[in-house]
Amino acid sequence: MTASVPFVDLRAMHEEVREEIEAAWRHIVDHSSFVGGPAVSGFETDFAAYCESPYAVGVGSGTDALRIALQAVGVRPGDMVITVPHTFIATIEAIAQAGAVPALVDIDPTSLSMDPAAVREFVERECASGDSVIHRRSGRRVSCLLPVDLYGHPADWQPLLALAREAGLAVVEDACQAHGARYRGRACGTFGDAAAFSFYPGKNLGAMGEAGAIVTARADVAERCRILRDHGQQERYVHVTGDGSNARLDALQAAVLQVKLRHLDRWNERRRAAARHYTERLSPLEVVTPHERDECRHVYHIYAVLVSERDQIRRRLDSRGIGTGIHYPVPLHLQPAYRAMGLPPGSFPVSEQAASRELSLPMFPHLSDDQIERVIAALRWALEEKASPNRRSVSAPEAR
Ligand SMILES: *Cc1c(COP(=O)(O)O)cnc(C)c1O
Repeated sequence: MTASVPFVDLRAMHEEVREEIEAAWRHIVDHSSFVGGPAVSGFETDFAAYCESPYAVGVGSGTDALRIALQAVGVRPGDMVITVPHTFIATIEAIAQAGAVPALVDIDPTSLSMDPAAVREFVERECASGDSVIHRRSGRRVSCLLPVDLYGHPADWQPLLALAREAGLAVVEDACQAHGARYRGRACGTFGDAAAFSFYPGKNLGAMGEAGAIVTARADVAERCRILRDHGQQERYVHVTGDGSNARLDALQAAVLQVKLRHLDRWNERRRAAARHYTERLSPLEVVTPHERDECRHVYHIYAVLVSERDQIRRRLDSRGIGTGIHYPVPLHLQPAYRAMGLPPGSFPVSEQAASRELSLPMFPHLSDDQIERVIAALRWALEEKASPNRRSVSAPEAR
């Protein structure tokens, strides 16, 4: 009997903080302050400090954070926002929610995040630059660059920011997977005019429900975010924009986040240790292990390998009780929702390759060495089976 290894298991993490969270919740119930209040402002202060940035604005989800950040940095209805097809759907959804349309550019094959050369090519070949950047074919104003710190590894910020500055584009950072990640010593969440974080339970910093935040160094952007998350209200019943919504962070989630934030660096270190263990043991095998650039601190929200015949390998792992994920199986331009963009297969070859080969191995802070060894043994077996499909299985991982 082989003990299975789940893709994510957060129980041990929550046992560590159960008493602190229960005490914080008791306090909130005693004081009946459920929306806004000291728990929300306390967490906002702490999270801004954690990101080494002046402001954090708590919102209802990472998707809310992206939409509001885009609106707050000046993306207007009808604009174009440059992003990538290889990301979670929310990145592109938020663009539409802000009334804009996505302009997709391909990713870099090593980092799997936005390729600065592809951005340059898009701006130089497809746009006219004057006072603002205009997409020639559609006549739309291109107003913002939206790179993603995918899997917990920072995007290639130096060239991306240089391009944005040169073209006069606002920058929103999708840092929804990158709490605690760093690029040249600087924290993720500080690279654009604003950054969006998600605190979905499975993220490196997760609530016990839905939550998100915008982080920014700009006082005007922070103020607009506070207005937009609360029905466009500047003060009670004074609504200064019709683009607002109810996107507030609730106090019970803020309290969880405030407690868990104190443990985040330690939990990220455990993820990094697990990643080192995987990478060392997987390097002789026929898989491409994730790349951490010298100037970066990867926080391994996802431990993503690339492997051929991915779906078959995944089924084999599943048959051995090893939970895996795919992030993400279909690039956004090939999703039914975006067919109208008219971008056929082949439009973004690197993203399409990544979508067909990416496999996410179990990763969470309390993943044990023993569990990692079981994943590796099962993966080795799955790869050997693939190499010689007609041979009877001789090296199935032993029960442990
Ligand atoms: C999780 C995630 C989001 C959305 O966050 P929610 O809190 O689920 O709305 C956006 N972008 C990326 C890259 C994500 O991983």
